[in-house]
Amino acid sequence: MTRSMADWLRVDHSAFCPGCGHGVLMGSLIRACEDLGLDRQQLVFVSGIGCAAWIPSPNIKADTLHTLHGRAVAYATGVKVANPKLTTIVVSGDGDLSSIGGNHLIHAARRDLDLTVICANNQIYGMTGGQTASTTPVGALSATDPKGNRYRPFDLCALVRAAGARYAARWPVSQPRPLTESIKRAIRTPGFSFVEAISPCPTQFGRRNNVEDLGQLYQQMTDLCVPASRADKLSEDERNRVFVIGEFHD
Ligand code: SF4
Repeated sequence: MTRSMADWLRVDHSAFCPGCGHGVLMGSLIRACEDLGLDRQQLVFVSGIGCAAWIPSPNIKADTLHTLHGRAVAYATGVKVANPKLTTIVVSGDGDLSSIGGNHLIHAARRDLDLTVICANNQIYGMTGGQTASTTPVGALSATDPKGNRYRPFDLCALVRAAGARYAARWPVSQPRPLTESIKRAIRTPGFSFVEAISPCPTQFGRRNNVEDLGQLYQQMTDLCVPASRADKLSEDERNRVFVIGEFHD
């Protein structure tokens, strides 16, 4: 079955700011669904609140549930319980999934629910005004930390793996091919799977951290990516300051 990308889109333009990484993630997600030949009648996207929550709803032409802040995984759990045959994919941001909804995330991984959770990690609360999230790097400026965040960020892949996720992967949106392949692999994985896309937010993160040039923002992200094969050589402090990229599974 072949369908064009356009067949998956409900709208002819997105609401994302210029340079936002979420549009690339949306492309990877659609390409993965297309490549897998997923039956849209058996597919449900669930999102919470925030810019990333707009990736499936209203953009993707499929059944979409746009739910409460932090509760996307809880709603997805209900979908799966009601009809286990549905392919259920959660798409939301780091603030929504791991700050407000962190408990739902770790318990879904612990229960090994058959969900794929895709996190667009822009390291800040984007749509709600640029507040510090549980993923904001040490020292980064935000609306709630104008002198710099003091707390170390979550390593989301390590968090869900420790809680029981069968598969986790992290890629920047500047590497859309491995990102797409990981989304496909996650959807094919029975049980709980997780894909984290590092997705720059020029409007809230870039501007507040004096990186207004888009090229510089994307270069900064690229420079911070370290392949998992080299991560063992990093100290804990160094690991907290970079993105360890790759696949994490047994
Ligand atoms: S506020 Fe940030 S995350 Fe939201 S659409 Fe704009 S650039 Fe993207």
